Amino acid sequence: MPVDHRECVRCVMDTTDPEIVFDDNGVCSHCHYFDNEVKPRWKPDERGAEALSRQIAVMREYGRKREYDCILGLSGGVDSSYMALKVKEFGLRPLVIHVDAGWNSESAVSNIKNIVDHCGWDLHTVVMDWPEIRELQLAYLRSGVANQDVPQDHVFFASLYKYAVKNSIKTVLSGGNLATEAIFPRSWHYTAMDGKNIRAINRKHGSGSIKKLPIISFWQYYFYYPLAKGLKTFRPLNFLPYNRDEAIEELKKIGFKEYGSKHCESIFTKFFQRYYLPHRFGYDKRRPHLSSQILSGQITREEALVELSEPLYSERELENDKLYLRKKLGLSQDEFEKLLEAPKRKAEDYPSDEKFYKFVKSTQARVEKKLGLRIRRYS
Ligand SMILES: [Zn+2]
Repeated sequence: MPVDHRECVRCVMDTTDPEIVFDDNGVCSHCHYFDNEVKPRWKPDERGAEALSRQIAVMREYGRKREYDCILGLSGGVDSSYMALKVKEFGLRPLVIHVDAGWNSESAVSNIKNIVDHCGWDLHTVVMDWPEIRELQLAYLRSGVANQDVPQDHVFFASLYKYAVKNSIKTVLSGGNLATEAIFPRSWHYTAMDGKNIRAINRKHGSGSIKKLPIISFWQYYFYYPLAKGLKTFRPLNFLPYNRDEAIEELKKIGFKEYGSKHCESIFTKFFQRYYLPHRFGYDKRRPHLSSQILSGQITREEALVELSEPLYSERELENDKLYLRKKLGLSQDEFEKLLEAPKRKAEDYPSDEKFYKFVKSTQARVEKKLGLRIRRYS
C-alpha cells in the first residue's frame, strides 16, 4: 500500500477510491452516503413487507390473464438464487431466464438446475454466440479498460429486457440489493449499459462483428424500456431482511454449492475480480462488498478485516484459472500475459454516451433533491 494510504474507521473503504473523502472523525463519504441515501430506501422491516406484498399483488393482477407475472434472471449466484426461492414462496409465476455467456462454472450449472427443479419452473437458457462473445471479450482485454465484466453484464440485462418485451412482461426481478451491494466507488468503473461505448471498443480492438449479441444503447436502457415499454425493475431483496450467510444456509438445503466468494459463479468474473482488477488497478472488490455488509449490520469491521487479510488467489488456483481462460479464449501464454499488461485506459477514452449519462444522473439528482423523492425507475 502507498504511504498516504488511508482507510475508513467504520467500513473498509480506502484511498484506492480516488474520490473518497473523510470527515474529521475518519468516517468516509461512502458511510455518509449509506446513512443519507441508502438507509431511507432500504426496508428490511414491516414497511418493506407491506411494500413487497403490494408489489406482489400488482404483478399477480397483471399476470392474471397472461402466461407470466414477471421475468427473473437467474445467474446461479447467491443473490439471484435466493431471490428465486423467495419468488416461489410469494407464489409468483416468473419467466426464468439464464443467459449463458460461456463462463459458467460447473457448480453454477448444477445450482441453477437444483433451483428450477425445486421451484418446479421451466428454465429458458439464452446461449450467447460464443465466437462473438469471445471476440468482444478479447477487444475489452486489448482496450485496457478496468471493467472487463461489461460484455457479460450487458448481454445479461439486454437479454432480460428483450425477453420481457417479447413476452408482454412489465416487471423485471433483480437480485441486486443494498445489503451486500450498496457501496461501490463510481470512479472504479464506467457503466455496462452504454452500447455506444461497447461498439466503439469493439471497432477499435475487435476483429469481428457483434451483430448477433443483444447490444442496447444507453438511451434505450434509460428511456425506451422504462418509458416506452413500461418496464420496471423490482429488487425484492431490498424489502426483506436479507443476510447473505443465512441465505447460503437456506440454499444449501436444496443442494446449493458455494462458490467461495461473491460473483464467482462465472469463472471470468472470478479472475477479473480476484486478479485483473487488483493486479492492474489496485481495486479489491472485496472492500465495497464487505463495507456494504458492515454498514447493513451483517458482519463486524473486524470480521471484514480478517477476510481482507486472506490472499485473493492461491498460486495454484490462479495458474489453473489462467490456463482455463486462455485456452477458452484461444490464446497462447505469451499472448494472454501481454493482454493482461495492456496499457491502462478509461472506458470514456473511447466514444461513449458519457455526457448524456452524466447529464441524466445530475438532472435526476437535482430533481430528486427538489422534490424530496426518488424518481428513478431503474435504481
Ligand atoms: Zn466508510
